[in-house]
Amino acid sequence: EYTGMSKERMVEIRQQNCNPMTMKVTYYKKPVFIHQGHMQWLWDVDGRRYLDLFAGVATVSVGHCHPKVTAAAEKQLRRLWHTTNIYVHPPLHEYCEKLASYFPDPLKVIYLTNSGSEANDLAMLMARLHTGNFDIITFRGSYHGGSPQTMGLTSNAAYKYPIANGLGCTNTMCPDVFRGPWGGSHCRDSPVQTIRECSCAQGHCMANDQYIGQLKETFDTSVPSRIAAFFAEPIQGVGGAVQYPKTYLKEAYKLVRERGGLCIADEVQTGFGRTGSHFWGFQGHDVIPDMVTMAKGIGNGYPMGAVVTTPEIAASFAKGVHFNTFGGNPVACAIASSVLDTIKEDGAQQISLNVGTYLMTELAKLRDKYEIIGDVRGKGLQIGVEMVKDKASRHPLPPEAMSEIFEDMKDMGVLIGKGGVYGQVMALAPCRSVLFSWRVVATLQATTSQVRFHTTSLWTHAGFGGGLTNDTF
Ligand code: PMP
Repeated sequence: EYTGMSKERMVEIRQQNCNPMTMKVTYYKKPVFIHQGHMQWLWDVDGRRYLDLFAGVATVSVGHCHPKVTAAAEKQLRRLWHTTNIYVHPPLHEYCEKLASYFPDPLKVIYLTNSGSEANDLAMLMARLHTGNFDIITFRGSYHGGSPQTMGLTSNAAYKYPIANGLGCTNTMCPDVFRGPWGGSHCRDSPVQTIRECSCAQGHCMANDQYIGQLKETFDTSVPSRIAAFFAEPIQGVGGAVQYPKTYLKEAYKLVRERGGLCIADEVQTGFGRTGSHFWGFQGHDVIPDMVTMAKGIGNGYPMGAVVTTPEIAASFAKGVHFNTFGGNPVACAIASSVLDTIKEDGAQQISLNVGTYLMTELAKLRDKYEIIGDVRGKGLQIGVEMVKDKASRHPLPPEAMSEIFEDMKDMGVLIGKGGVYGQVMALAPCRSVLFSWRVVATLQATTSQVRFHTTSLWTHAGFGGGLTNDTF
């Protein structure tokens, strides 16, 4: 039972002493006061239980306070918390060896940081030093961090401040086949198949060519002939689980390398088996990046990040001294090592695949039924449900209607995330706990149907009933 500080006092403190801005990004009319977590569940200070389908933005990989990970943390906390990297301590080396074994050659050299922004900052620096070039390209709608450097990589207005940020960063059109200008375009060989469903032998789509054309145009107009790097997530997370045409990343990597640039996969959300079919998101695109950045799921919620790269790139970086007081500290390494073991033992990647496929199949049925569900996409347990005014216009469902959905879901005991440049995407990235059972999925299914029902009614009351079919009611 919770006997701590009152909710009112917490709100006062949040406004006075504690980054008041974060009050604005709470999804709900009244904040949710979370007190405790266990596996896929969270409890608020009033003892209400919630099913956590956002996992702290795809962070809690194997469940809140997973007993095995907690035990590993406790053991290390009693032995050694900190030493500088001047000394050699076993957890760092045990972890780096283990993490490196999850990557294909030549990705074998690891740098540990404390967050995703720090990892991307470091990757920017290494790419520039290695190539001798400066310019970096990212996708519009992306989020890669909030530090002054990574804010330049980030291309989502909500997270930009009017300061000189990320000098040398240019964005290109995100190959978003739903919201982009060539969204819903069809396979060249089979006009009835949309791009993501396309499985033709060529694996080549008209929209893919258009988006690759946009990238070429960015090269021709916005950057010097040689570039330092291209950063892309395998699935765009904060952008709303945006997936690209099948061959896009492979072709983009080739173009980037022709211009001297390094290809960097930001796996902060997609890594550690979240996409189900593979351990790393890039493997689903049949590419091998020059660098991979990680955070979030790496520590199951414990602050940590990492960059993995090739020995050749690491050699260019070794010309200076790079030091990080807390990066790779013994406690973080012991936790991260246990997270890797637990992912394997609990079959978290398989949970992503099985539960994710089921969830997406069921959500796709709702999409086919309801006019305001524009798109259901994603892979494994990184899922986006894009809400629209109607399917024809694809106008984003406005914030007030989205807000109703979030309130309803919360009232029904389900926490979900928000994504997309217009906040129009329901982002599902659940904790992959073994307790995340079929029964829970069934509950979610029932819940989502009710939410649809409620939202469509709200929409009609608001005077936008035009696109709705009778069967919605
Ligand atoms: N990259 C991606 C893809 C992210 O989603 C985030 C965080 N939302 C970051 C980088 C930055 O990570 P951090 O908040 O740990 O700095």
